[in-house]
Amino acid sequence: MSTSSSPERVSQSEEEPRPAKRARLEQQDATKQSPQSALISTVPSHTKAEGLWLDDGSVILLAESTQFRVHRTVLSMHSPILADILNKPVGDRIEGCPVFPLSSSARDVTNFLKYLYDPLDLDTGGKVVYPVMFGVLHLSAKYGVSKLRSKSFSLLGLQVLTSLESVNKLRYAELTPEMMWWLIQAINIGREINMLELLPGAFYLCCAMPTEFILRGVSLDGVEARLSVGDRASCLLGRDRLLDVQQQETWSFLYNPQASSACTDDKRCSSRILKPLWQSCRYSPLTTPRTLSVYRYWDDLVDDKYCCRNCSDKLREDQEIAVEGAWKKLPEYFSLGSWEDLRGHGT
Ligand SMILES: [Zn+2]
Repeated sequence: MSTSSSPERVSQSEEEPRPAKRARLEQQDATKQSPQSALISTVPSHTKAEGLWLDDGSVILLAESTQFRVHRTVLSMHSPILADILNKPVGDRIEGCPVFPLSSSARDVTNFLKYLYDPLDLDTGGKVVYPVMFGVLHLSAKYGVSKLRSKSFSLLGLQVLTSLESVNKLRYAELTPEMMWWLIQAINIGREINMLELLPGAFYLCCAMPTEFILRGVSLDGVEARLSVGDRASCLLGRDRLLDVQQQETWSFLYNPQASSACTDDKRCSSRILKPLWQSCRYSPLTTPRTLSVYRYWDDLVDDKYCCRNCSDKLREDQEIAVEGAWKKLPEYFSLGSWEDLRGHGT
């Protein structure tokens, strides 16, 4: 992805993450309608979609109050599911065309149809607008438009959630409102399109979000992203488990460093390394898991004579093994079963 906001664009120079920025929640009240506007909105007032009211179109899709005059043949060519829908008899007609009401938002239908008619627009290399592209992925999956589904999935960069290495890189990315929105929607779309393999990595990264955003969600471009009640609980319970695993396994040397049996300094390394190790964590919030991260400065500890080479090699190897084990168990921490279970659901 070439966008400036890409979740793959991360700072790898830090050992420890900066404290998450206290991003501002959009004022939900600001979107509430006044009594007058609420009254007006109850009056049916359909509008023709700009750019998607095609004079030679043969069917009309109705999403919320927006009408789209498009071609049955074009839609049917891309989607057998839409072909079935558009072949059903309907009662309403406008300008002689049958009208098919859809349950999706006008915004999502607009973007879906735009890229269905002009897929080359997806390859312009411009900034990916997440609310737009998640809507396209949602509808292309719903209607079985496989190429558009694959393309939108790829543009959203969701595949990075399925490997330990890329999840660890994202762990050090700045946690902007846009990033948090992307993470929450990754969980929601993963469930919706049955790509459950996305969930463990997304949950792990969501655990780094301030609790208020896990509970209340985040808005981006007027589109709210919020976890289900069950997933909010899974995230918070999983965070507790991750912090336990971090203390007991992947970062246990912070609490109980063990010198190597081959220590060349009479096993005094174990007490000397505590101070620099803790200093490296001093900017990391205590409730933010870094269970899958690895310490990167073992060589510096040896160079600065905080420990011998044998001890640093042993601690490094122990942590790498522990992190691999924690990654394998990551789905279990969020009550998702095993990786095999999740991959078995892939479509
Ligand atoms: Zn030693």
